[in-house]
Amino acid sequence: MHEFSICGLLLKALTEEYDAIEPAPAGLKSVTIVIGELHQIVPDYLQGAWAALTADTDYGGAELILEFQASHGICPACDWTGTISPPLFVCPTCKIPGVELSAGKELFIRKIEIKT
Ligand SMILES: [Zn+2]
Repeated sequence: MHEFSICGLLLKALTEEYDAIEPAPAGLKSVTIVIGELHQIVPDYLQGAWAALTADTDYGGAELILEFQASHGICPACDWTGTISPPLFVCPTCKIPGVELSAGKELFIRKIEIKT
């Protein structure tokens, strides 16, 4: 259940942003996060972690919106780019293993909606 630790990181980042908002918001409406598919998140577990960890906080009842980012890679040999399926980072064109990851490990907050 690494969703709880991811949710903990998310809350830490969220709190830094939220506390910096002037004037202080009346509450949090929603937070939108972007997660690369390599994190292998189970959306229901993350929603459960979010509900459990925010229940008695200023963020209780706020919606957690998830946007998933597919894994993309680039081949250093032939410059192929495209969607890759972990754990096999093999170039479909020249068949070398060693396609470099260009997307799929994201974990960041895209948007915060507050109550005023
Ligand atoms: Zn290649």
